[in-house]
Amino acid sequence: MREFDADVIIVGGGPAGLSTALHLVQKRRSWAERILVLEKASYPREKLCGGGITLPGLEVLKGLELDLDIPHINVRKVELRYLQYRYLLQSDPAFVVVHRSEFDHWLAREARSRGVAILEREAVNQVGVTEMVVWVETQTRRYRAKTLVAADGSNSLVRRRLKWGQGQKARLLETLTPADPQSAFFKQGLARFDWSGMQQGLQGYIWDFPSLVNGQWMMNRGIFDSRVFAQRPHKPHLPTMLAQHLTRQGVAPNEVDVKGFPIHWWRPGKMLSRPRVLLVGDAAGADPLFGEGIAFALGYGEVAADCLDAAFSAEDFRFEDYTARVREHWLLRQLQARHAGARLAFGSMRWPPLARVMWRTAPWLFRALVAVRPDYFPLTKKRMYRF
Ligand SMILES: Cc1cc2nc3c(=O)[nH]c(=O)nc-3n(C[C@H](O)[C@H](O)[C@H](O)COP(=O)(O)OP(=O)(O)OC[C@H]3O[C@@H](n4cnc5c(N)ncnc54)[C@H](O)[C@@H]3O)c2cc1C
Repeated sequence: MREFDADVIIVGGGPAGLSTALHLVQKRRSWAERILVLEKASYPREKLCGGGITLPGLEVLKGLELDLDIPHINVRKVELRYLQYRYLLQSDPAFVVVHRSEFDHWLAREARSRGVAILEREAVNQVGVTEMVVWVETQTRRYRAKTLVAADGSNSLVRRRLKWGQGQKARLLETLTPADPQSAFFKQGLARFDWSGMQQGLQGYIWDFPSLVNGQWMMNRGIFDSRVFAQRPHKPHLPTMLAQHLTRQGVAPNEVDVKGFPIHWWRPGKMLSRPRVLLVGDAAGADPLFGEGIAFALGYGEVAADCLDAAFSAEDFRFEDYTARVREHWLLRQLQARHAGARLAFGSMRWPPLARVMWRTAPWLFRALVAVRPDYFPLTKKRMYRF
């Protein structure tokens, strides 16, 4: 019997796990035979998600020589609302919207075409790490490897089994409804983020994204509550808030299917590795301000592959510098700013007049932030317009 089934076992075949595999193979073709991706579902599998991928995420794909050749919508206008304040960011595109089951299936096909072994319907239910080996158990068998990448999302089983703690999670609800392709959402490539619910204790926003689902024009609408200040007594009732929003948009709430899923978000100071184990994507933590996670998941894959490649060259699997490398990475370093932004934005609601001042002066605040960190605003036009 072979001592190891692979050098690297990746649990989870979403954007984070597949990006890790693709980055490894990009470094050296021979990595393909040394990786095993275990995915509990089978492609195309549903994933509750708005599907918005910002330009840094597309940049990571470009670095992997991947052209997004699946149906998607280019969002060119981003509307930000808070009560009577309405602003527009324009960029071509500001971000793209994909349907996640198609996107993840496409990424998996690309990884396979580069030689990566992905086993579907292989749900991991036990995990163990010793000084010399990691093992994972599925219903069918036990796999052994030298290292383990936990890419199993916000409810990560690997985190639970290794007693890493659950971290903090945002609550989200989402629904897809048939849409009119003649509406501004599709004609102008408009996406809307409405933060007015912060008045009622929401630590987040309601979104309306145009999207294409299996060739059909659909609106993807949902509500995001980061719970950055989880101890606050008032926890808004998300189904009611989303239902009110749907009614305002002319959608009958009782006729739509609303689903929920959390996002585990990144916090400063949390360790993202242990000897032989790396956390990537939502298992490590996404953005608590917008709930953005796809671009970050793709970015985590880049850092994880660098660390794995270096570890195998040095035969040293302690991964002591992984957390620091995540913090310094050109894309992932934004997580720190998003965390600070979330605390500022949602903290401002302790004193609502402050929130109003912030929204009234938003274009100037935006300009000041762009001047300090232009790289944090990957937009072609770095201006915010009032309308
Ligand atoms: C409602 C909602 C809307 C969102 N909208 C956006 C958006 O518009 N833009 C954006 O950037 N982000 C958005 N996000 C966040 C985004 O979906 C995640 O950040 C992203 O999917 C993280 O990728 P991942 O690969 O880490 O995890 P996932 O995409 O969750 O992939 C994890 C994979 O692991 C598999 N898996 C899980 N457990 C096991 C197991 N035990 N064994 C084997 N396999 C396992 C799963 O089947 C899955 O394929 C949204 C999230 C939600 C909930």
